[in-house]
Amino acid sequence: MANISEKLNNAFNAQIKEELESAYLYLGMAVWFEERTLDNLADWFKMQAEEEFEHAMKFKSHIVERGGSVHYLALAEQKQDWTNIMEILEASYTHEKYITEKITELHNIAKEIKEYSSNYLIQWFMKEQVEEEDNISGLIDKYKGYKNDFNFDHHVTRVE
Ligand code: MG
Repeated sequence: MANISEKLNNAFNAQIKEELESAYLYLGMAVWFEERTLDNLADWFKMQAEEEFEHAMKFKSHIVERGGSVHYLALAEQKQDWTNIMEILEASYTHEKYITEKITELHNIAKEIKEYSSNYLIQWFMKEQVEEEDNISGLIDKYKGYKNDFNFDHHVTRVE
């Protein structure tokens, strides 16, 4: 028997799609860097994509645990024709703010239908989004301090 409402189940399936599309977006960015031998940035974005995949799996596992139904929706192609580093960094930041809105929507749905068993999961994502936004805005601030893309790349490290 399902211990999750259809409404929340559907919303979580939709969020799995959002997380996997985030991974897809960041994989495209990683390739853009890799093609320009900006290898640390390529690694940073590839790791970001891997994190997004893990996010999708967190929602998947929760649905299964609650006896719901996982449905993987079709993924949309993501933008891949970037012009420069700042465009990528700003698009990442905008994207993470969009994802934060999506997590807030999940919170609102759960609250509205008084389905509190997923609170811990949604709270985890609320905290994660604070980190995601901070990581990328930190990268933007750092980039502003460099005149040369390779110097910047040389100083990009990712602490998990
Ligand atoms: Mg995510």
